[in-house]
Amino acid sequence: MAAGNTVLNSRLAQFTSTIFAEMSALAQATGSVNLGQGFPDTDGPAEIAESAIEAIRSGHNQYPPGIGIESLRSAIASHQFHYYNTQLDPATQVLVTTGATEAIAAAIISLCEYGDEVVLFEPYYDSYAASVAIAGAKRRVVRLEAPNWHFDSASLEAAISPSTRAIVLNSPHNPTGKVFSQDELNSIAEVAIRNDLIVISDEVYEHLTFERSHISIGTLPGMGERTLTISSAAKSFSYTGWKIGWVTGPEILVAAVRASKQFLTYVSGAPFQVAIAHALDNCERLIPQVLEPLRLQREQLRDALSSVNLEPFPSYGTYFLVTDVSEIASTDTYQFCVNLAHEAGVVAVPTSVFYSEPNTAPKHVRWTYCKRPEVIQLAADRLRKYFN
Ligand code: PMP
Ligand code: GLN
Repeated sequence: MAAGNTVLNSRLAQFTSTIFAEMSALAQATGSVNLGQGFPDTDGPAEIAESAIEAIRSGHNQYPPGIGIESLRSAIASHQFHYYNTQLDPATQVLVTTGATEAIAAAIISLCEYGDEVVLFEPYYDSYAASVAIAGAKRRVVRLEAPNWHFDSASLEAAISPSTRAIVLNSPHNPTGKVFSQDELNSIAEVAIRNDLIVISDEVYEHLTFERSHISIGTLPGMGERTLTISSAAKSFSYTGWKIGWVTGPEILVAAVRASKQFLTYVSGAPFQVAIAHALDNCERLIPQVLEPLRLQREQLRDALSSVNLEPFPSYGTYFLVTDVSEIASTDTYQFCVNLAHEAGVVAVPTSVFYSEPNTAPKHVRWTYCKRPEVIQLAADRLRKYFN
């Protein structure tokens, strides 16, 4: 049996490990504070967990319907109506998935023919490029430029070809914390409509915004019919390990996603669906319980980074701040982060891994603030000791 990469198909050769798992393992091995992988170190509102426990006790333990349990699909439809004024039929326009990750992968696999092109804004969340590769499609990238992460309309135009099938949009944006503006979304919508493209809109951080409001691109004129809107309970309710996500949109597109979902995971965790239906039914009350501590932790991390001359770029949402380390990093940013773990005892994520050609990426590092204040404090103390 051939070993390692030699058995892996060539499309996936580039994707043998995820940076998040790698950096969490590094944090563990070095005893570092983990400001790398974006997962909260406290659970979300306790009543959501109680609801899952109750669901297990009361027998929600066998395969649920493939599209998701009725109460969750209705809760998702109500959520989309409440926040975005979008009217959806829960029977045909909502699909429950195993996290947003599966929704993204299933959408790309279902929509793309071999050789089709998918446009990504870079830096991009790692699973997009891998999903494009799994589908046998090709990625085309449009770069977001610091400090405001603007993109050039001409470069979006240049990324479109007769083979383009879809644009993947992520706002609020991981890793930068950018919240795309109305004008930017209008210009993406205009390109999508003119070229008859589908937009796959990853909105997992829809509720984790500060100072700016999230606009869902599917609500723009002409976009409802061509947009798949994806979100997840992971971020809005701080239950990242439950892997309950969803995709909504026109019936024909949702049915297409369902075609691959049903053979990827078949269904998604039954008791967690019950609990997330409860969470969504009470989202106005529960989401602030997640958001308000994050707001303070974000300020705390921003102050800590600024105090060691790593002033973060402007950021309006998500779990993350990005800093430019070009003045202090004598190596590439991957090595910089490895060294930082060993020497300072703090783990962060090099954003070069979110670029199509990491060698050409700017020297930026991502830090997460979805950690308890005492954990951020410990990281701050270690960074000050190391850098000052
Ligand atoms: N999209 C983005 C932008 C993310 O940051 C993440 C990570 N949490 C996901 C998708 C995956 O979400 P889930 O855990 O629901 O699969
Ligand atoms: N979304 C999280 C991050 O960006 C991690 C999720 C994962 O590990 N796949 O850090």
